[in-house]
Amino acid sequence: MSEIPVANGWQQILAAALAEARGLPPEWCFEIVKAETVDGALKISANYVSGDVPLDDHLPPDQKIPHPWRAMMRIREKAREKSLATCECCGCPGRLVDADEEVRVRCRLHEYVLDAVAWGASASVAGFMFETREEAMAHFLKDYGDGLDMMQELLAQQGRYKQHDPLDGSE
Ligand SMILES: [Zn+2]
Repeated sequence: MSEIPVANGWQQILAAALAEARGLPPEWCFEIVKAETVDGALKISANYVSGDVPLDDHLPPDQKIPHPWRAMMRIREKAREKSLATCECCGCPGRLVDADEEVRVRCRLHEYVLDAVAWGASASVAGFMFETREEAMAHFLKDYGDGLDMMQELLAQQGRYKQHDPLDGSE
C-alpha cells in the first residue's frame, strides 16, 4: 500500500477512496497514486490496467462493461464532492473560501489557513489540533459549556440543601 500524503482533514476521504479501490477487480491493478489539491478540491489519481476492456460509451448504461477508467472517475468525483464540503485542516464541515491568495475548503475556524498540510504538520508537532490555548478553551467551552452550567447549578442547589439541612442547626 502506498503512503499518499494528504492534509489531516481529508484523511477520511482518502481512506474511503482507498477502500473503494480495494474492492475493484484485482486484474485492473487499480492503485490510487496521488491526492492533490486542485482549485481547492481534492483530486485523486490512480494507475490501472485497462487491458482489452473496451470503453463502451456507445452502449446504453445497462449494457456497459465495468471499466477501470469509469471506476477512477467515480472515485475521483466522490472524493471531490466530499472535499468541497470538508475543512482540509480539521475535517469539520467546511466550504469553499476564496479570500486572499488561493481558493480552499475551510471551516470557519480555519478560513485563514493557507496551507493545510503545513498547518497540520505544525499542529501535530505542538501535540494538539489547536494552535493556541484560547482556541482550545473556546472548543472546550463550546463542547462542554452546557455541562459546566449544569454543574454550577447542581453545586448551587447542593449549597442550598446544606443551608436547609435541619441537622446543621446553623440556620
Ligand atoms: Zn477546520
